[in-house]
Amino acid sequence: MNQKNHLSRIPEVMQILKKKYNPREKTTLNRMRKNKTSNSKAFKILIACLLSLRARDESTEKISEQLFKIAETPKAIAKIPTKKLEKIIFSSGHYHKKAQTLKHVSQEILKRFNGKVPSNREQLLSIKGIGPKTANIVLNFAYGICIIPVDVHVHVATNRLGWISTKNAEKSETELNTIIPNKYKYDFNALFVLFGREICQTFSPKCSICPIKQYCPRIGVKRSR
Ligand code: SF4
Repeated sequence: MNQKNHLSRIPEVMQILKKKYNPREKTTLNRMRKNKTSNSKAFKILIACLLSLRARDESTEKISEQLFKIAETPKAIAKIPTKKLEKIIFSSGHYHKKAQTLKHVSQEILKRFNGKVPSNREQLLSIKGIGPKTANIVLNFAYGICIIPVDVHVHVATNRLGWISTKNAEKSETELNTIIPNKYKYDFNALFVLFGREICQTFSPKCSICPIKQYCPRIGVKRSR
């Protein structure tokens, strides 16, 4: 079966995943979409996303809440002494590097963007510490722009499904944002993160209980449960 045939399964797959998961409730970053004031929402989503890198979702939520009780604006985070910030975010892992990134990003937003998180991809990427996935999370989750943030779960599952054939997340991002219809882009990341954590796990997917197995050619899967 060729890629075109695999792509024809997108509507069925998306329907099944949407029925199974409620992404707006279940991931920390998605729940944050509900905040009202847009700059405060964008900044908090950006900071929570930076804290979530290589961390568990539960710990990201707890640490983000603790941090936002003390400081929730670029000015306030830029002012926190590094040692104190490291202590607050300690359990997110890589706390030393993350504290540096949080302070640098806050300072840049203050200095170059007048305290407002940019809604432009190039401007976001021009800030050291913000990579393509984080930029797309901010654009999609905070500003409602139709763009798919690609992390490991999205990259792995969509390759196994045969929708794309890519070696890294950067290439996946370009391809997925071309082939996936706009109507699926808003929830795409959240659905595949939940699906990847529970079923289509990176090292050994649980194909036997997968709700979309009839649509999956399992490309590249060597070991499964
Ligand atoms: S069948 Fe297996 S490889 Fe395919 S999507 Fe489901 S869990 Fe992933």
